[in-house]
Amino acid sequence: VTPTAVMVGTGVSASLGVLIEGGQALEGAHKVNCIVFDKRGTLTVEKPVVVNTRLLKNVVLHEFYELDATTEANSEHPLAKAIIEYAKKFREDEENPAWLEARDFVSITGHGVKAIVRDKEIIVGNKSLMLENNIVIPVDAQDMLTETESMAQTGILVSIDGEVTGVLAISDPVKPGGQKVISILKSMNVRSIMVTGDNWGTASSIASQIGIETVVAETKPEQKAEKVKELQAEGYAVAMIGDGINDLPALEAADVGMAIGAGTDIAIEAADIVLMKSNLEDVITAILLSKKTFSHIC
Ligand code: ADP
Ligand code: MG
Repeated sequence: VTPTAVMVGTGVSASLGVLIEGGQALEGAHKVNCIVFDKRGTLTVEKPVVVNTRLLKNVVLHEFYELDATTEANSEHPLAKAIIEYAKKFREDEENPAWLEARDFVSITGHGVKAIVRDKEIIVGNKSLMLENNIVIPVDAQDMLTETESMAQTGILVSIDGEVTGVLAISDPVKPGGQKVISILKSMNVRSIMVTGDNWGTASSIASQIGIETVVAETKPEQKAEKVKELQAEGYAVAMIGDGINDLPALEAADVGMAIGAGTDIAIEAADIVLMKSNLEDVITAILLSKKTFSHIC
């Protein structure tokens, strides 16, 4: 490997918005034959939005959202941000919405959040979180969850004092060109896999939209890393691409870790390659540049 070729390779890629951290990362990328994609923020847009609400009890919509947003106010999760953004619509001062006071805030990684607001216990999150708290999921809430999953949306349950009071549908559509990227990777003999903390239904809907055949859903961060290691044990040279704190172990386990530029700082720091424009096409740019650099040398 000539240092000059590597310099040229990393220089060209940087001008295209693909930051490659050194010669090893550049070399690693041309061997990659399997890419593990995170879903939310990586395959799908960085900013999910609330698209639907179903209230199951006699609550007023704006009060319902006030409780939800107050509970989520301490969470950095993209779903929390979507809920807060939506709740702002009901506030007089959208720019400086004064949420209520929350106490005893708890964030349950991969499940949701809890807090006491107005002396009520508010729980916002997925089905597992409700079940762990011994909250019964009514049939109409389950119906709404099934419906959202089939539309590739994420259904979030809201419980007030132990009763499911409403369900939100949050949409995070696939980034433009996603399907094309997966099919080009296939033609380059690169296998694509999706790992996500989201539920199986939503994950499978997104995967089939985009043409990914293998999905691992409802994963914890360590399980994302385990999947990477499992693929490596099968003989794959694995790239992991993600944007969140929950992708960190997998980014570190992968032969090449790639971070989405719009992602969290911690993911960017852990990555060997950063896709500054947050475009999925740049995964291909990185691999092709690496191939080009190394085919000149070899
Ligand atoms: P992902 O971002 O891939 O969905 P996470 O592990 O962060 O993965 O979350 C898994 C699931 O837990 C989410 O899909 C959601 O249902 C629930 N969840 C996590 N954080 C929150 C939150 N702050 N508010 C509501 N639900 C949440
Ligand atoms: Mg993500």
